[in-house]
Amino acid sequence: MKKIVILGSSGSIGTQTLDLVSKMKNTISVEGLSVYRNIETLKKQIIRFKPKAVSVQDPADAENLKKWRAPKNINVEIYSGHSGLRRLVEMPEADTIISAVVGAAGLKPVVKAIECKKNIAMANKEALVMAGNEIMRLAAKNKVSVLPVDSEHSAIFQCCAGEKKSQIKKIILTASGGPFYKYDKDFSEITVEQALDHPTWKMGKKITVDSATLMNKGLEAIEASVLFGIPIERIEIVIHPQSIIHSMVEYVDGSVIAQLSNPDMKLPIQYALTYPERIKGNIKPLDLSKAGKLEFYDPDFKKFPCLTLAYNAAKKGGTMPAVMSAANEAAVAAFLNKDIKFTGIADIVAKTMKAHKVKKTHKIDDYVEADAWAKIYSKSLINKNKER
Ligand code: MG
Repeated sequence: MKKIVILGSSGSIGTQTLDLVSKMKNTISVEGLSVYRNIETLKKQIIRFKPKAVSVQDPADAENLKKWRAPKNINVEIYSGHSGLRRLVEMPEADTIISAVVGAAGLKPVVKAIECKKNIAMANKEALVMAGNEIMRLAAKNKVSVLPVDSEHSAIFQCCAGEKKSQIKKIILTASGGPFYKYDKDFSEITVEQALDHPTWKMGKKITVDSATLMNKGLEAIEASVLFGIPIERIEIVIHPQSIIHSMVEYVDGSVIAQLSNPDMKLPIQYALTYPERIKGNIKPLDLSKAGKLEFYDPDFKKFPCLTLAYNAAKKGGTMPAVMSAANEAAVAAFLNKDIKFTGIADIVAKTMKAHKVKKTHKIDDYVEADAWAKIYSKSLINKNKER
């Protein structure tokens, strides 16, 4: 029996994980859940999965939840804030933490979980971009595994099984291209509604905008570099609009190994939950003769400057990827709020990176500080933009 805690249980990955858990009867127990502020979803999850403890961001929400629990005689501990997340990952009953938090907020709980010797199923790509080398170093030191939940990284992980890292020539990361890889009008006129209309994947808002700017692929290139210990220069991106091949690994002998399936996040989530086993899946089987044409294109770094920014951040190293990702988080929020244009996202990220002095460090707090600095700096740029 695997005993899990899900951080971010009301989001897209969190709810799909719980769907899978309910189908995998008697093999997984849910010990803890956290949400940011989606209390109504959390209540339903408490009734259905009976966790021992839950955590919410706001203490006032925690108080309301306690009042709801009492008359119903539900036996669940209720925590809040950063300390609440810490208490969830420390739970002695849990052996695996599913980190499905969006953004930098996921970093500290994951570090704490690793220090408590819990295995990690990682869907929180921002934490890996922010301080991935430190996460992997700590995981090795504490002898725990960090399993990817992202579809591309799950694919790479499967393509690397039983192979020697020294024999990998390059990683080929596939990208759907988002809604705009063929768009030839003015990118500055792209609306929030257009950006949220993703052709192949249904996901949360932040990642959907990141997929439209291709920043998602930039973040994933850094994520792959960190998870698999391959320099960013040997991570290549190819646009593959059908999202059937989820990524590939090329070896020194010229062999290229790929992982294929219909696009459905349930597969990488399930694999992270059952690894090293495979169990019967719940996804639509792949029929290649019906899948039609599989296409591949080079990405356009000029049209999608976020890709260049991500590669540059990885090459600079140290705190730069954290700053790049933090500025992007702030800029995407501003775009969703209609404070800046679509093209403003890359501008804000570029200007924030330019103003940052890189620090090479092993201290997690330095990465947290770089993230906080970048958010303040980029928000000041956004506000200046609004005043004009
Ligand atoms: Mg992905």
